[in-house]
Parts: sequence; C-alpha cells; structure tokens
Amino acid sequence: MISKTISVLGSTGSIGTQTLDVARKYNMKIAAIAARSNVELLAQQVVEFKPKIVCVYDKQKAGQLRTQLKGFDVRYNIEIVSGMDGLCKTAQAPCDCVVNAVVGMVGLKPTLMAIEAKRNVALANKETLVTGGHLVNAALRKNGVKLYPVDSEHSAIFQCLQGRANNKIKKIILTASGGPFFGKTAEQLKDVTVEQALSHPNWSMGNKITIDSATLMNKGLEFIEAIQLFDVAPEQIEIVVHRESIIHSAVEYADGAVIAQLGSPDMKIPIQYALTYPERVPCDSKPLSLTDCGKLTFYKPDIETFRCLKACIEAYKRKNGATTVVNGANEQAVALFLQGKIKFLEIGELVWSALENLEFPLPHTVEEVYEIDKKAREYVLKKCQL
Ligand code: NDP
Ligand code: MG
Repeated sequence: MISKTISVLGSTGSIGTQTLDVARKYNMKIAAIAARSNVELLAQQVVEFKPKIVCVYDKQKAGQLRTQLKGFDVRYNIEIVSGMDGLCKTAQAPCDCVVNAVVGMVGLKPTLMAIEAKRNVALANKETLVTGGHLVNAALRKNGVKLYPVDSEHSAIFQCLQGRANNKIKKIILTASGGPFFGKTAEQLKDVTVEQALSHPNWSMGNKITIDSATLMNKGLEFIEAIQLFDVAPEQIEIVVHRESIIHSAVEYADGAVIAQLGSPDMKIPIQYALTYPERVPCDSKPLSLTDCGKLTFYKPDIETFRCLKACIEAYKRKNGATTVVNGANEQAVALFLQGKIKFLEIGELVWSALENLEFPLPHTVEEVYEIDKKAREYVLKKCQL
C-alpha cells in the first residue's frame, strides 16, 4: 500500500487506465478523475474509486453520467463537473499528485491550474510542454512544486540524472522506435492506410500518439519536451532510432560516460516511477531479458521523409510561437487523417507548410497559446479546403 492520493486527467485512456491499475495495486486514493466523453468507463471508475470530483469535458455527456450512476454520486457526495472550468477544478482537487494523461494541448491549462494550486504533476501530456513549456516552468518556479515526466524517454532521462550532483550533461540520447514505417521511402508511404499507421510495432497507445509515432511527430514533440524538462540546448539532443525500444533513452556526461535506462516496453514502469519517486516498488511488467533481445540496433532518423520531426526541430529553434503552430497543425491534420479526409504524407506537408507560413511571437498567456493554436488549425482546414 502507498498512502498517496492522486487525480487522473484522461482516466479512460491508455495512460489513464494504466495509472488506475497502479493505483489499484498499491491502494492509492483517487481524488478526482476526468475524461472527454467515455461515460460508460467513467461510471465504472467512479463506482470503484469513489473520487470526490469527476469531470466529463463534453457538457452534453455529463447528464448521461448522472443517469448511468443512478444516484451513486448523490449517495457518496461526488461532484460532476464539465467543460474547461470543470477540468481545471478536477486538476485543483486536493491531492499529492495530478497525473495529466489527456491527449492534446487541451492539457495545458489544467496543468497550469494544478501547479497554481500547489499540486505536484506527473505529466504524460507532452503537448502541454510543446505549446506552453515556458509557462509551465515559470509556474513551477513560482509555486515550488515538482513535475515528474511520465513519457518513457523522459522518465528514462530523469532516471539517468539521479545522483548526478553538479555534473554537467554533455548530451541527451533520445531514442525512437521509428514506428511502423521505419526505412520506408516517401513513394512507399503514399497510400498507407489508417489501419497500417495505427499498428505500432512495440507500444499499444491511444490513436493520436500512435499516428504521431508513425510520422515521427511524436519524436519531434519529445525533442521539445526534453528541452523544456531538462534545460538543455537543442544541439545537446541526439535522436537515435532504436527499433527494439529497450533502451528508453540515455545521458552522456562530461567525461564521456553514458548512462542509459533499459526495460521492457511497458508504460507501467514510468507511470509508477513518477508516482513513487524516489522509491522503487515492484511492477508487474515483463522482466527484461537481454539474451532474449539478442541484439539492439541503432540508426539515424530520416528527417526528410518524416518531415514532422524536422518541423519540430526547426520550430523550437525559432524561439517564438512556432512550437504551438506545429502542434496545432499536427493535431488538426491527424484528426483529418483518422477521419479518412487526407493521406498519410499530407500530415507532414501540412505541418511543414503551417510552420513556413504562420509566424507568431512567443505566447505569454494560455489565451495567446489558444489563439495561435486556433490559427494553425484554421490554416490546415483552409489548405485542405475543408
Ligand atoms: P488516449 O487517447 O488513449 O486517452 C486520452 C484520454 O484523454 C482519454 O481519457 C480521453 O477521454 C481524455 N480526453 C481527451 N480530451 C479530453 C478533454 N478535452 N478533457 C478531458 N479529458 C480528455 O491517449 P493516451 O493515453 O495514449 O495519451 C495521453 C497523453 O499521454 C498524450 O499526450 C500522449 O502523447 C501521452 N503519452 C502516451 C503514451 C502511451 O503509451 N499511450 C506514452 C507517452 C506519452 P475519452 O476516453 O472520454 O475520449
Ligand atoms: Mg515517448
């Protein structure tokens, strides 16, 4: 048993449900949960964990949750909220740590609200740091709370940094699986289907991040995420394709020593570490057998074919609103691809085109981030004549 109380934003998703598995195993209390519209699963979670607050972001679905709960909420004094105000209220509920596992830049505001309420945050929602990393870092400094990375690569880097004292990092080696289309040419990618793009070789994840992994946008977002989390320069990050997803990332120190974190590809390990840090407790993930792995392989990423990655690297270097532009354009383009309205390669083309044609200063508030995000999405829709 671990006597911690946590809140889980995005509780019905891939990371959210795995977080609740960890909470269940270690008997953690759940203060609040939130999702967008999956009221069936939310209702089950409410009955099992009896949180004080539950948010259904989609206002129309909040009533459905009430019906589904048949008075359980009234009996246990559970507040049902909705919309962005509701999501932020969920993020501010009293607890030891808020796990932010919603998908998309919608996660930025609740992250900031959780920090303002002096809650520690375990962050899976990388779009938060891509669009508003500087706002998050300022809020962390002001409120004196901690942010723990959940993303496997960033958890790995965080683990490699334990015990570093004042030693300088020379370089971060950010590993990438390469996704389902590693080694393919643009010609071969012309007609890939949604189903092919959704079949990731090593990880089972939500749809948006799975498409991001196929386009390598995910690694681009993670490149920016690493800079925001670990205060390194872009030139200090080397992206290496490592097909087996066993080395989750590594840190090279001034003396040339490279410390890496290895493990089976299972998100429970980083989720759990973010919740129990600095303790390590047993995890039911498959033990790593290096002899079963046999060999580990490493390659350079192809940033010309996978232009989303190139766009993210370039966007960060501009040090203005460009990271929000590429993120917003990508969120819109991925949604269109999943709806069958555009082709796979168009995602990269649209993200690159948005970066080239839209320019905004660095946003200083969440509202300014929203404004840039809106313009990037509109740009993509207009370009696709939708
Ligand atoms: P999923 O699509 O599986 O889950 C997303 C969750 O967010 C769902 O619970 C969904 O609710 C909820 N949600 C979406 N929009 C809103 C909203 N507006 N308000 C409240 N809740 C909302 O995604 P993943 O779990 O795969 O990914 C979550 C985040 O973690 C992403 O940022 C991703 O990049 C990151 N991540 C994921 C990894 C993974 O292994 N899956 C690994 C590393 C990072 P509903 O079910 O009702 O739609
Ligand atoms: Mg990752």
